[in-house]
Amino acid sequence: MGILFTKMFSSLFGNKEARILVLGLDNAGKTTILYRLQMGEVVHDSKLQLDLMLRPCSYNNIKFQVWDLGGQTSIRPYWRSKEEFHAILEEEELKGAVVLIFANKQDLPGALDDAAITEALELHKIKNRQWSIFKTSAIKGEGLFEGLDWLSNTLKSGGG
Ligand code: GDP
Repeated sequence: MGILFTKMFSSLFGNKEARILVLGLDNAGKTTILYRLQMGEVVHDSKLQLDLMLRPCSYNNIKFQVWDLGGQTSIRPYWRSKEEFHAILEEEELKGAVVLIFANKQDLPGALDDAAITEALELHKIKNRQWSIFKTSAIKGEGLFEGLDWLSNTLKSGGG
């Protein structure tokens, strides 16, 4: 499966180098998504309180970094996630970055759909960059490649 995904990634992203920062609340499913995509190995850095993705070179030009919003030990209240999200987008290093949002755990009853999350996170307030949201279930492996497909097309057409 890993090889298949490697090939898919090569064809999706070509030779263009893409650096992808994965942000999300603890327990949102980041590790599961990356594991599902066979991206490499996730290790926890206890000093930095971050999960980091290792072995990015095994995926050609695509470098992955995994970064938990709020860190593992200090889970911030959910209502703050919107503010954090918009504040992070203002970071200099993320200036112009394309934003792909996975509304994960869609297989669970009561999961908010993409429209509800768009409203809750006030995604329409995102200015001067391209963004999109996809419903996913990392457990079932649904929606992930649709999102990455959008990402690669957006990057190829000059976004980010
Ligand atoms: P992280 O803290 O964001 O890295 O979250 P994890 O990937 O460790 O996932 C946290 C928990 O949620 C684990 O028990 C996963 O099995 C579960 N999980 C992740 N994605 C899904 C999903 O799409 N559906 C369901 N039902 N559970 C999921």
